[in-house]
Amino acid sequence: MRGPAEARRGSFLKEPGLILDGSVLIRDGLVEEVGLTRRVENLKAARDAVEISAAGRVVMPGFVDSHTHLAFPPPGWAHTDAASALNAVKTSSARSVANQMRKYLRAMARHGTTTVEVKSGCGGGPRAELKLLRALSLAGQDPIEVVATFLLRLPAPAEGPDPAEAAVEWACAEFLPLLNRRRLAQFADIVWSPVESRQRLIRRYLETAARLGLGCRVHADGGGSREAAALACDLRIAGIDHLEQIAVAELGGLAASGPVITLLPGLAFHTGSRPAPARALLEAGAAVALGSNFNRSDSPMLNMQTVVSLACRELGMTPAEALIAATINGAHALGRAATAGSIEHGKPADLVVFNVSDYRELGYHSGMNLVHLTMKRGEFIYQEGDVAPLAAEHLRRAW
Ligand SMILES: [Zn+2]
Repeated sequence: MRGPAEARRGSFLKEPGLILDGSVLIRDGLVEEVGLTRRVENLKAARDAVEISAAGRVVMPGFVDSHTHLAFPPPGWAHTDAASALNAVKTSSARSVANQMRKYLRAMARHGTTTVEVKSGCGGGPRAELKLLRALSLAGQDPIEVVATFLLRLPAPAEGPDPAEAAVEWACAEFLPLLNRRRLAQFADIVWSPVESRQRLIRRYLETAARLGLGCRVHADGGGSREAAALACDLRIAGIDHLEQIAVAELGGLAASGPVITLLPGLAFHTGSRPAPARALLEAGAAVALGSNFNRSDSPMLNMQTVVSLACRELGMTPAEALIAATINGAHALGRAATAGSIEHGKPADLVVFNVSDYRELGYHSGMNLVHLTMKRGEFIYQEGDVAPLAAEHLRRAW
């Protein structure tokens, strides 16, 4: 995935930087060298290295899942209605929510994700939002890196003054400064509204977040994509996500030079809804990333390998485009391009070894876990297990 310093678009999205018969030299968790094996193994620094063979397999940067709702509804909660899920958050401690979240984070590690964005946004008021974000910071780096986002959902319109006014006032005056002081979120996100009077409020929210030094995102899963795209370009925000409803004529400056657009093919797969016009976005020069949108309500899939294969089958992306979108462009969407998304000198060694001999097979299989090994910062955090009979006493001990 070596390439230019900016998010990949146009012809750069076609070039995964493949090295045939390559090796990676890792020291103290960082990539020291990457290149042809015959060159790397002759380096002085490689003389005492422990060799881990990946012969016949594909080694890739770990997936960067740039859009999930993993935090809510909370894991381990059997019901899917929002009210009881919210109650579960309110009555649990941040520590126990974090422990539940780790189950999903571990499952992601098993499927090759090494960096993940997680949004709050339960709509349960300041205490519940704060609890989710505290739980995310407790789950922190274990086993994979969590990028925390506060997602503001504006309340439904009501009689009299628009309640969105008070919600944005609260966020700008109190909550965003608090999150920033406590370093509980790296991004501020907001669900876009097609209602014109609310767009002034959304602008205010994003401008306040940017002034505080938070990254900004827009969650544009409904109508009014043209206005969302225009504001995203105007404010130069980090990412705009979903865009299932956008028409190509509405892209404006979004395509050629705008923020990274995270597409979420798992949502259309699960709900039967219309997918985003990925091919048109790519042809127009957009920087596209891929996310799982993982949540227990309408997108219960966290395997980025399946997201890649859906992007190939349903969105018409090529395997190279989809894998770049799921790694280095995801890192750009999260402001992590210096530390994630590619195997390059000086970056943390976040790698996945896949049980395929050609990377294009990742666009073909679906649902199957092809991960042989996952490495985070130079340490193996997952290795696939053998299929073999287990003694009953072994099982009892594990249980
Ligand atoms: Zn979403």
